[in-house]
Amino acid sequence: MYISKSFIPILKNNPSEAKIKSHQLMLRVGMIKQSSAGIYSWLPLGFKVMKKIEKIVKEEQNKIGAQEILMPTIQSSEIWKESGRYEDYGEEMLRIKDRQGREMLFGPTNEELVTDIFRSSLKSYKSLPQLLYHIQWKFRDEIRPRFGIMRCREFYMKDAYSFDINDEEALFSYNKFYLSYLKTFNRLGLIAIPMAADTGPIGGNLSHEFIILAETGESKIYADKRIFDVKSDDTKLEKKSLEALRNKFEEFYSVTDEKFNKNEFEKKVKETNRLTTKGIEVGHIFYFGDKYSKPMGASVDLPGGKKDFVKMGSYGIGVSRLVGAIIEAKYDEKNEVMKWPISVAPYDVSIIPMINKNDNSALDKASKIYFEFEKNNIESIIDDSDENISSKIKKMNLIGAPYQIIIGKQTDGDLLEFKEIGEEVQKINLAEIIKIIKEQKVRN
Ligand code: ATP
Ligand code: MG
Repeated sequence: MYISKSFIPILKNNPSEAKIKSHQLMLRVGMIKQSSAGIYSWLPLGFKVMKKIEKIVKEEQNKIGAQEILMPTIQSSEIWKESGRYEDYGEEMLRIKDRQGREMLFGPTNEELVTDIFRSSLKSYKSLPQLLYHIQWKFRDEIRPRFGIMRCREFYMKDAYSFDINDEEALFSYNKFYLSYLKTFNRLGLIAIPMAADTGPIGGNLSHEFIILAETGESKIYADKRIFDVKSDDTKLEKKSLEALRNKFEEFYSVTDEKFNKNEFEKKVKETNRLTTKGIEVGHIFYFGDKYSKPMGASVDLPGGKKDFVKMGSYGIGVSRLVGAIIEAKYDEKNEVMKWPISVAPYDVSIIPMINKNDNSALDKASKIYFEFEKNNIESIIDDSDENISSKIKKMNLIGAPYQIIIGKQTDGDLLEFKEIGEEVQKINLAEIIKIIKEQKVRN
């Protein structure tokens, strides 16, 4: 892709309306465009990143045996009346009437709809467990939408739902998602800590939020620092192994402010290990048993002939919020340098040729490199504008492809000036560059 032909409307300066760095950068490099309060269009650069995040989220859901479906954004009020949440949900729910005067709504979450799908199709314990997920736009009429896509009204969420025969099996499902969340955030280059949380309007009694540390986050957190050293690599998708993982984390105090208790914190965590800071909630999982299956009559036949309501959990990831969360974690605001993890980078590498009026050789060379990359499934972007090298580098530092190639006067023969953002320039040939980038891509 040539930058001259791309739709990347870059601003010279930071937009003044943006208060946090993710919002600044996303507007600055034209990843999003606000259409009304808390509602955004996603432009090519932003959309590319979000789609890559979505793909990783999907892969990790599939790995634990969850099956993808797609439910609509618009739901009927009937099922929400059955669960009792039509009244409870309050003003955050966008209520709509269709031309027949029927009460509809733009889904803020899908517990009712998925329970309705389940109850109309599956009747036997033999079909359990069932793990279903979808990735769909949600609408919540947030009282104060802010920080760009971090807290907006229309946002893209992965929500999964589990159906099990009893508490023990349901806990197994819960723990599978717990592990898959750790793996997902890890592949996105983030360290997300599971924290005991309140269940809010979803309800239930067991719940964890997955939080990444960031000064601009909206969740206040209290933790034992040692929780950051807990590893999940050797965890198997088996009951015992998953329980052991949860226990490893739960050895260390870590809660959001809703569950915070000063005495408990001071008693359990010695002073040098105490961490009080802020974070961004990127995922939230809940176990709520028969909270929905009971009022909505979603039951299955048990082995002995009796019936029971299925035990359910739900599991959310803020796919669109993650774009901002990654920027909060990775953007060096002072030097104006963004380095996307290669797993979600809009481009793997930027090619920066020095272009003179009557000499196209650097641009020709850039195009050749571009096609070599293409053959190797490496995505690159060429800055074919006639700006000087330093302003081109500045621009590419904002776009954030993790690697850069500079083709200047000194570039002759096979050796290219190649650099990973934040590292030293190396002079190596294209074959070696391809090898380095491919290795990084495989690792992710
Ligand atoms: P929050 O506490 O941030 O308001 P929530 O607890 O209401 O979120 P959940 O119902 O747990 O949200 O939704 C699952 C995930 O969806 C959250 O972990 C978050 O990443 C994302 N999310 C929720 N609300 C928004 C929003 N208004 N804008 C963007 N993402 C959101
Ligand atoms: Mg939440």
